Amino acid sequence: MGTKGREIIGINVDQLLDLLNRAYASEWLAYYQYWLGAKVIKGPMKDAVAAELNLHATEELAHAVLLSNRIIQLGGTPVLTPQGWSKMSPCKYDAPKDPYVAVLLDQNIAGEQCAIATYKALMDATKDKDMVTFNMALTILEQEIEHEEDLQSLREDLDLMVQRGAK
Ligand code: FE
Ligand code: FE
Ligand code: MG
Repeated sequence: MGTKGREIIGINVDQLLDLLNRAYASEWLAYYQYWLGAKVIKGPMKDAVAAELNLHATEELAHAVLLSNRIIQLGGTPVLTPQGWSKMSPCKYDAPKDPYVAVLLDQNIAGEQCAIATYKALMDATKDKDMVTFNMALTILEQEIEHEEDLQSLREDLDLMVQRGAK
């Protein structure tokens, strides 16, 4: 751990590490939810949606990399077990039990909305107190916002297609 780097943080570092680990846990759950969803998906537009789910899986994993690096930099330990992921995550894991495209999209939209709230809270907690974490949270938040919009626009296309097809 870098001592001066830790010293300049204006909030309790243990509390910050807890917030970072919660976000870290949720990224692994999001990663797996996307990764598995892309494998089991069924229904109209499944190839286009699976491509997006796979891309998002990769991006969630990159968020976990950013978070684990920051946790270690601050002298913390990233959540050590998969059991810890569900225990710590503010966003629940939604198993893709029903593989229909619309169901998977809705589950992942809810996940993104939870992620957006998580990074907004991390930014509020670090604003003017820890610029490095604040900046990282902003980078991730920008991507979660993009994820939500990507999925909602696919959901809209799917609805249009199903409506038109029914006529
Ligand atoms: Fe993420
Ligand atoms: Fe995301
Ligand atoms: Mg995308």
